[in-house]
Amino acid sequence: MMERKNIWLKYNKKELKEVDSLSNRYRAFLDAGKTERECVEYSEQALIKAGFRKLDHILKKGEKLQPGDKVYAVNMKKAIIAFVIGKTPMEQGMNILGAHIDSPRLDIKQNPMYEDTELVYLDTHYYGGVKKYQWTAIPLAIHGVVAKKDGSVVKVVIGEEETDPIVYISDLLIHLSQKQLEKKGNVVVEGEDLNILIGSKPLKGKEKDAVKENILALLKEKYDIEEEDFISAELEVVPAGKARECGLDRSMIAAYGHDDRICAYTSLEAILEEENPERTACCILVDKEEIGSVGATGMQSKFFENIVCEIMNACGEYSEISMRRAMRNSCMLSSDVSAAFDPIYASVFEKNNAAYFAKGLVLNKYTGARGKSGSNDANAEYLGKIRKVFDDAGVAFQTAELGKVDAGGGGTIAYILSLYGMEVIDSGVALLSMHAPWELASKADIYEAKKGYKAFLKSMK
Ligand code: MN
Ligand code: MN
Repeated sequence: MMERKNIWLKYNKKELKEVDSLSNRYRAFLDAGKTERECVEYSEQALIKAGFRKLDHILKKGEKLQPGDKVYAVNMKKAIIAFVIGKTPMEQGMNILGAHIDSPRLDIKQNPMYEDTELVYLDTHYYGGVKKYQWTAIPLAIHGVVAKKDGSVVKVVIGEEETDPIVYISDLLIHLSQKQLEKKGNVVVEGEDLNILIGSKPLKGKEKDAVKENILALLKEKYDIEEEDFISAELEVVPAGKARECGLDRSMIAAYGHDDRICAYTSLEAILEEENPERTACCILVDKEEIGSVGATGMQSKFFENIVCEIMNACGEYSEISMRRAMRNSCMLSSDVSAAFDPIYASVFEKNNAAYFAKGLVLNKYTGARGKSGSNDANAEYLGKIRKVFDDAGVAFQTAELGKVDAGGGGTIAYILSLYGMEVIDSGVALLSMHAPWELASKADIYEAKKGYKAFLKSMK
């Protein structure tokens, strides 16, 4: 009874086509969105195309919101929230999908550039949990913005076009690695050694730091930026290249940033297709999850609450108590990736409570570590309701823990929303090689995730 079948076996021709077309759209999203800013830009364009209007414009005009209206709000270009106003008053609660759009990467420091033995480097500080040794000797790209003193913001993307150069972190040759390979994995490559090699050609006629001078001249020419401008820049070093189909059967997608753009994109598609819901539908795509949901653009900021207040006000139903009721009566799927069972590393999983490729959307009743610490432990009654919503809509799902008890653990944004007293559960798509430069997902699970999110927006109450 409890055995969950491989979902590839149940798809008909039409569904198999849909699985592929969704995964193609998702790959386009990944290729366009390698930073939180790029994901916000892409999502905003998609929302506008689907008839969503910017909340700022509605507020400026003093317009009222009606059931069926579609609105969105952007937070500092790094987070975005979309709503489809429901028929029932917001006080009775919303159905909320939440996912994060920041991914582990290497951030360039504020004073990054130096020359050493006629090689020029950019110094980095890694962002989120990474196995540092995985970032050496692979093609890397630089994405981000440089804010200049005159107020202009220069966008930078280097390393994605076939004709672009890539950048690179060198690794020690195996021939001289005897000592290095005796080190523990976490110090084989150290954080301070993640320096990006960006040049090796000196500028003619310069005596000191001639290679650096040459790079600075190139930056001036191409982007009109100076060395000082790095102070006010956000440049992220990410794996170069496009998301790819994986496996001879093309059943998987290998890509940078599945965590958590895989849940973000499927949630986005779910709200894009939402029309005239009973309860107000909401999709939150948020920044900074990988470093603890901190700051003005992370889930801990008041942005979401503030926007809910604005929306309720524009619906003509705002009061402090109504807003609190709206939060308390809401239901949320906090969507984030899960670890897929990996036969090569079977010892860290407990087989009966692990997630598997091609078994559908994962529900994690709890996350956390060392006795569920740091977890949002979803209520049994809420899980019962979700099972019904998914089963009624034919959504394939599985339940899982991240790994064996005391093998490790992780957190999500779930606990933050649960502070409002709303029902929240962790859900998401299972990955192999989570947090690696290239992560792996099953196309079938992506398809079930979107189906699950749509069913949740439509039927949860
Ligand atoms: Mn995540
Ligand atoms: Mn993560």
